[in-house]
Amino acid sequence: MSGIQIYDSLEGRLRPFEPLQAGRVGMYVCGPTVYSHVHLGNVRTFLSFDLIFRYLQYRDFKVRYVRNITDAGHLVDDADEGEDKVGKRAKLEQLEPMEIVQKYTVNFHEVMQAFNALPPSIEPTATGHIIEQIAMTQQLLANGWAYESNGSVYFDVETYHAKQPYGILSGRDIDEMRSGSRDLDGQTDKRSPLDFALWKKASEDHIMRWASPWGEGFPGWHLECSAMSTKYLGESFDIHGGGMDLKFPHHECEIAQNQGAHATGGARYWMHANMLTLNGKRMSKSTGNTLLPGELLTGDSPHLSKGYSASVARFFIHQAHYRSVLDFSDEALQAAEKGFQRLTHALNSLEKRPSGGPEKGSFDVDAWQQRCMDAMNNDFSSPILIAHLFDAVKAIQADAQDPKHLGSAGASTLLGHMRSWIVEVLGLQVDAANGAAGASSQKALDAAMAIVLDARRKAREQKDWATSDAIRDQLAAGGIQVKDGEDGSTYRVQE
Ligand code: ZN
Repeated sequence: MSGIQIYDSLEGRLRPFEPLQAGRVGMYVCGPTVYSHVHLGNVRTFLSFDLIFRYLQYRDFKVRYVRNITDAGHLVDDADEGEDKVGKRAKLEQLEPMEIVQKYTVNFHEVMQAFNALPPSIEPTATGHIIEQIAMTQQLLANGWAYESNGSVYFDVETYHAKQPYGILSGRDIDEMRSGSRDLDGQTDKRSPLDFALWKKASEDHIMRWASPWGEGFPGWHLECSAMSTKYLGESFDIHGGGMDLKFPHHECEIAQNQGAHATGGARYWMHANMLTLNGKRMSKSTGNTLLPGELLTGDSPHLSKGYSASVARFFIHQAHYRSVLDFSDEALQAAEKGFQRLTHALNSLEKRPSGGPEKGSFDVDAWQQRCMDAMNNDFSSPILIAHLFDAVKAIQADAQDPKHLGSAGASTLLGHMRSWIVEVLGLQVDAANGAAGASSQKALDAAMAIVLDARRKAREQKDWATSDAIRDQLAAGGIQVKDGEDGSTYRVQE
């Protein structure tokens, strides 16, 4: 028994998590479409799954975490119409589509690294899996769930729905979907407006195109995730995640494709991270109510009074449960910054605690650790975990006054657990927390070194080599290396 409960979006309830293979977890998360800078909502989604990835590893599961890069097939309207998002951007920036893909993939990786997200185990691209997508389309045609029409291949939703319900993940009613969809008015090759493309014929001006049994075209957006999750995790795997906005149509279509091709829905647990708002309102470029990850770090935004470290932002994000709406605001970030500093100061003082006190203190570390585990076992409740961490902060503060609170053995056990929760599971960089202090001590060192190097320069001018060498050697012994150059001397602190 893993003891972990996961809220499964498909069943709409908490379910005990038991992986297919004991000790191993296969997890697929829909990655970004790399046609523009990754926005903060996506960052939140990826950090939510990074937390889950980290916790599963903390629990000693071997996790294969697959997160794709969508570099083709995602059309402007998120369905089957409009230009390819990457192709459109390529025309706008007068670049090759693959230059756009490269540029924004690099940006995405930089942002993920800045927020200390672990890289996934496999990061497959849609363009790297055209063969698999063609094969899956052929399988769906062979099984009678799809039809070809004028060089495109569509999934036959009505035929599928006659056998098994379509819309189970998003809870949509097919009659409502039918009445809500536009009439076909002869402008399309589809039999029903509910059908979705598995393969699209490329128009003359569509740049990204590949040969297929149905002529030159490109894969449908939904197909890549079915094809790549199957390839790397198998027809049935443990967890599929993504942002809430992907439930329909993207994940609904994935389920239909997987059922149609393999008679199984693919993932056994569906997980969705909620969206985020800015100052209580939906983010939107047109109203200016938006914040990019980079702006959050630099503070270069009308919504912020200053920049925040990535760890403060991450701490703030994990203070909300991944299924709750998260509201960004300057005040909330300032409060998170204070909280994060309290946490890291407590950790630092625990590290420096002088040995003393009884062996066992009055604070029951084992029971506290169990409460932390219970919180994360309950659908990865990071806000509850963080509340427990602050209980420990109180105990650490009390212990600094009187070592009977933790005791010597208790303090050392607590330190190990605290570090694991903060660094390994929450992914917070505790040294970065002291960024402000670090910067000011660097300033102080610079000022002191300017004085020392000036004294040495004067000694050299007077050809007093003994003094100049003695200063250099003494600094070296203290871990500071002086380098003499044409423009004077510089120094470096050795790691
Ligand atoms: Zn996907």
